[in-house]
Amino acid sequence: MTLFDSPAFEGHEGVHAFFDEKSGLKCIIAVHSTARGPAAGGCRMWPFPTAAAALEDALRLSRAMSYKNAMADLELGGGKAVIIGDSRTMKTPALFEAFGRAVEDVGGKYWTAEDVGVSPADLMHARKSTRYVAGLTGHAAASGDPSPVTAEGIFRGIALSVRRQLNRDLDGVTVAIQGVGHVGAYLAEKLHAAGAKLVITDVNEEALRQVADQTGAKVVAPNLIFDAEADVFAPCALGGAVNADTIHRIKAKVIAGGANNQLADPEIGRALYERGVLYAPDYVINGGGIINVAGEIRALDRDEAFDPAWVETKLAHLMETLDEVLDRSKAERRPTHEVANEMAKARISQAAEQKAAA
Ligand code: NAD
Repeated sequence: MTLFDSPAFEGHEGVHAFFDEKSGLKCIIAVHSTARGPAAGGCRMWPFPTAAAALEDALRLSRAMSYKNAMADLELGGGKAVIIGDSRTMKTPALFEAFGRAVEDVGGKYWTAEDVGVSPADLMHARKSTRYVAGLTGHAAASGDPSPVTAEGIFRGIALSVRRQLNRDLDGVTVAIQGVGHVGAYLAEKLHAAGAKLVITDVNEEALRQVADQTGAKVVAPNLIFDAEADVFAPCALGGAVNADTIHRIKAKVIAGGANNQLADPEIGRALYERGVLYAPDYVINGGGIINVAGEIRALDRDEAFDPAWVETKLAHLMETLDEVLDRSKAERRPTHEVANEMAKARISQAAEQKAAA
């Protein structure tokens, strides 16, 4: 398969490959769309087995960022960077300075931030070579850790979904959370405060114990979370949690959580719809984090301090968008992920047309 035939290519504006001999940097920066503004999306460092696998991931992730940013109504397009390498052994300041030069070479069409395998400390090195870095700490425009804002959006999205699907508030509702890392732990705290009962799991025993101690959650083994007697299933670990093996085990009537790519494939989304399960599309409900990062980009562009009130306005608007997705799914009798994809594509096309006409 060539680049242009890849199903994930879907109209990418630019795909850039960079190699730096001195530091060993091998990276790909994919820019899916700049129709709504400069592309924004994190940088992932992963030991991809082949360059083709890295390319496929970059394309898939950057297109997903276009959709996520459009649904969060941000003046940002979608892009993503992947660095090929093992983040445990191959990270050096020189590698990230070289990555910063790569970002700079894209000429402001792409803003980077952290993702799997890349920390704010790494990005401080990238910042020496480019200004197009967000998601940092220690300066007036900095937005810090996005996880609490991501969790707040998911919390509100769960409350909205439960109200619509079960006609009740969160008091006494049981939520099964898969993964209590950054997002899952904040989410557990908020749900507990709202009176929800929790069933939690994680492969990290320490994280699990801490959240259980704080919230009184029932703990189950990782492979048993799908069987939990729960009203809501909140995937907050890795992608693909809802798949052909787990769909028949999940008893919850609402699936709403923080993980990216929760559905193993689009057919699973259709199967959920046919089973009467309300699925809150992942890239809509988890958009709080990128809204927070966008707040930093906005502040840097205007040479202003980070403004939490702007983030709150956008987050509230995101919940209206989720409500609209659920309304349309009901009215048009279609799965929520199909409605969300269509809305995101329409928002991007409309921006592209306006840009072309200007
Ligand atoms: P994290 O790494 O802090 O947390 C993930 C947790 O899942 C970890 O504690 C890990 O041990 C656990 N886990 C991994 N495999 C598991 C398994 N098989 N069963 C149970 N637990 C397992 O990551 P995070 O920042 O909390 O992000 C969680 C998810 O949300 C990811 O999919 C991420 O892409 C997505 N997301 C995060 C943000 C954000 O602001 N951090 C924003 C949008 C989307």
